[in-house]
Amino acid sequence: MNQPDTMPARILFVDDEPDFEKLIRLRFRKFIRNGEYEFTFASNGQEALEELKREPSFDMVVTDIQMPVMDGLALLEEIKKANLLLYTVVLSAYGDMDNIRQSMNQGAFDFILKPIDFTDLKTTIDKTLRERQVLMQASKAEQLGEENRQLSELDELKSRLFTNISHELRTPLTIITGITEQIEESPDRWLNKGLKMIRRNGHSLLNLVNQILDLRKLEMGKLQLHLIQSDIIQYLSYIVESFYSLAESNDIRLEFESEIGSQMMDYDSDKIVRIVTNLISNAIKFTPAGGEVAVRVNSSVQANTLSISVKDTGVGIAEDKLPHVFDRFYQVDDPETNAENGSEASGEEGTGIGLAIVREFVKLMDGTVKVESQVGVGTTFEIVLPIRQQAEIVKAASDGGPVKLPGIVASASRPAELLLPAAESSDQLPSLLLVEDNTDVVQYLVACLEDHYQLLIARDGQEGIDMAIERVPDLIISDVMMPRKGGYELCEELKTDERTSHIPIVLLTARVDDDSKLSGLKKGADAYLPKPFNKEELHIRLRKLLELRLKLQEKYQSLDHENGEEPTIEDEFIRKIRQEIEGNIDDENFGITELGRAIGMSRAQIHRKVKALTGRSTSIFIRSIRLHKAKAILQNTDLNISQVAYEVGFRDPKYFSRTFAEEFGQLPKAFRK
Ligand code: ATP
Ligand code: MG
Repeated sequence: MNQPDTMPARILFVDDEPDFEKLIRLRFRKFIRNGEYEFTFASNGQEALEELKREPSFDMVVTDIQMPVMDGLALLEEIKKANLLLYTVVLSAYGDMDNIRQSMNQGAFDFILKPIDFTDLKTTIDKTLRERQVLMQASKAEQLGEENRQLSELDELKSRLFTNISHELRTPLTIITGITEQIEESPDRWLNKGLKMIRRNGHSLLNLVNQILDLRKLEMGKLQLHLIQSDIIQYLSYIVESFYSLAESNDIRLEFESEIGSQMMDYDSDKIVRIVTNLISNAIKFTPAGGEVAVRVNSSVQANTLSISVKDTGVGIAEDKLPHVFDRFYQVDDPETNAENGSEASGEEGTGIGLAIVREFVKLMDGTVKVESQVGVGTTFEIVLPIRQQAEIVKAASDGGPVKLPGIVASASRPAELLLPAAESSDQLPSLLLVEDNTDVVQYLVACLEDHYQLLIARDGQEGIDMAIERVPDLIISDVMMPRKGGYELCEELKTDERTSHIPIVLLTARVDDDSKLSGLKKGADAYLPKPFNKEELHIRLRKLLELRLKLQEKYQSLDHENGEEPTIEDEFIRKIRQEIEGNIDDENFGITELGRAIGMSRAQIHRKVKALTGRSTSIFIRSIRLHKAKAILQNTDLNISQVAYEVGFRDPKYFSRTFAEEFGQLPKAFRK
């Protein structure tokens, strides 16, 4: 190894012979002087081990086998146990094959026989060092690979976090900027309500930022406990209470049960709020309407612990996902993959930080948290905290807990009823279905739209789908990330359902990356509006869509649209109606009711769909089909006009002639050959 400009190879010699060190130094002095080697000497295994512990940077060991205190074989054993990246060469008396074999079995790299031939020793040392270098390089490459992998994982985690966080940030920001405009425009109407909304959304932004900062502090081990001694039961019931309206607006029964009336103990009120808030909001978020969330508290006298459990009857968490829910940024169902797969569970908002914080806070309070869950049945989180009574006693205020709750919990009650414009009078306006779970966004949209549209409001994708089918609105605006069913699923279902396929859908979303835009359009969305949007932009989009629909109406009014284009689901629908009517064309009683029965839609559904597609009422549309048929008969047969009228289901020939003239601008006889 002639590389004087690199670091000297560090070699530990272990031998009990008194003159060994002197001899070696003498024989190798040239190489030591030019910096090729650096030697350290120990006189038995024990000493060698201590040396290795003190100075872990040795490259290799040359050791005798027969030594007092700890022999070479024992030393090899220890080196192996310590998992050191060390190559060992053993020195052994000539003919001592047993020991040599045994030491090689124990992981020695090579051996040299005594008396030592120094050229042989140097060659062996160099060969060993070379081998070691190869090994080091390989392990370094592996390590680099691992580091790379971890880095790219971190990267992915980060970009996912950013996407999630930007969603969480955009929603409140949209409301704040939007409502501000609203207040500017009509302060009388919006000042009070608007300020409340701005405050609430400001709080949720603050809360989000706090969560992120907490995580950061946790990461750096800087989070501190501020313990007080107080009645925790009262405090917990106070926190739960603040969730009643949120639960109610989600049709979820929220219960608080405590086996004990009160429990004085040390706790950090801030951390307790965060823990319980996270658990309850998860429970509400992941429980469908009609479900239950129960918060139960009890204490164990023997263990001197308090247990708080939050149990829901929600969607549950799959067994293989369960161990990960406490991981930072982990969310069981990635909304985007879901939308792509069109799977049942749908995108929930959130960043995946909540439970990571719960775990860290609980740990900070020397407690434990565990989770049990069954998919489709429900989930229970249980927290167990030690009961200690050392902190300063703080008396509870009469209006609730000892410390004021941060203004984060429980976003408003149901807005829909409160806010729906007095609809009756606006019957002429186009109807618009809003599908959005965020109360404040709904309020903002209502403010933007109520003067121009008749509004219907659904609070999640499923409700939106049901309402769209029942009411067949003229337009739909839907959020993407919503409980139960998301916007993509809504699009997909409505666009493939004959009753609703014609309704233009605008997706509102915070996800501004092109991927989700594409997946939205692929599912049939007609337009895509990223949050935050402004009022003008929204109006223009909607107007455009209504204009497009007028074009569509022209197309279907002409009734002869078979132009070789691929038939759309709309063409199919019109074709089916026409077929039904033509099949019953001489039946004067065949009207909208009969048509509905024949194609399996209610009167109202047919009425709205036909109106949307053709701009005409169903009876006028039916009549128009009859008249077109009549025109064809007039042109191609010799039947007289009364006969033609009967053929197409008119009993009164005069009435027939009059409506015919209305439709075509000329009397029937003008079409005679
Ligand atoms: P954040 O709390 O940061 O707003 P999040 O609620 O998605 O976002 P966590 O609270 O950490 O994040 O929860 C992580 C994941 O665990 C959730 O996304 C959800 O998939 C799952 N999860 C948590 N609680 C429940 C529950 N009660 N029922 C079903 N799944 C749950
Ligand atoms: Mg959460």
